[in-house]
Amino acid sequence: MPTILLVEDELTFAETLRYNLEREGYSVIHAPDGVEGLELARRQQPDLIVLDIMLPRLDGFSVCRILRQESDIPVIMLTARQDEVDRIAGLELGADDYITKPFSLGEFLARLRAILRRSEAHPRTIGREVLSAGAIKVDISSRRAWRDTNELSLAQKEFDLLTCLIRNRGIALTRDLLLERVWGAEFAGDSRTVDVHIRWLREKIERDPARPRYIQTVRGVGYRFDSADEPG
Ligand code: CA
Repeated sequence: MPTILLVEDELTFAETLRYNLEREGYSVIHAPDGVEGLELARRQQPDLIVLDIMLPRLDGFSVCRILRQESDIPVIMLTARQDEVDRIAGLELGADDYITKPFSLGEFLARLRAILRRSEAHPRTIGREVLSAGAIKVDISSRRAWRDTNELSLAQKEFDLLTCLIRNRGIALTRDLLLERVWGAEFAGDSRTVDVHIRWLREKIERDPARPRYIQTVRGVGYRFDSADEPG
């Protein structure tokens, strides 16, 4: 049975959709914000993503844009306003369809089935194993990383930190978020752990660690991974 990831912060609405999708035989996973939505999409590789636009932490536009860099899982965007519809079209986000709230359940299910049928007929790649940004390349499955053709010797947490930064490139990540993602929610250390590992990582991946090209400090927030081949 296809698995559907529902990224929606309005919990009553999400529960109603979940109920109806499960009744149709789909298995449903739910994320209440954009960051968790992205995480679940990567970890669970759903067959289809239903993505709201107005979301806490990371909006649906950004989620869709990031997802498209690494996979072509079909996406249906949920919009509340006409100007969002215009933006979906204008940004060429790569969403497969959109539906404007409020919508009828029948119409929603019909579109969802159509997209799933289409993607079954043309199997899509599930997730990219190699991430690259500028001269940096990370192979997730073999846990190896390179700058240009030079392989980097990274400790486990450095590798995880680099992966997390590259996956979220262009986005300012707080120290707390990095701690949670890389060290886990149960980790007792403080956010200076992140700063120390960032320093080590810069020494390994930056040509001039004092004037970092990739890992930017975002004052008062944390860090952001930038690469020349992408804006911002
Ligand atoms: Ca919302």
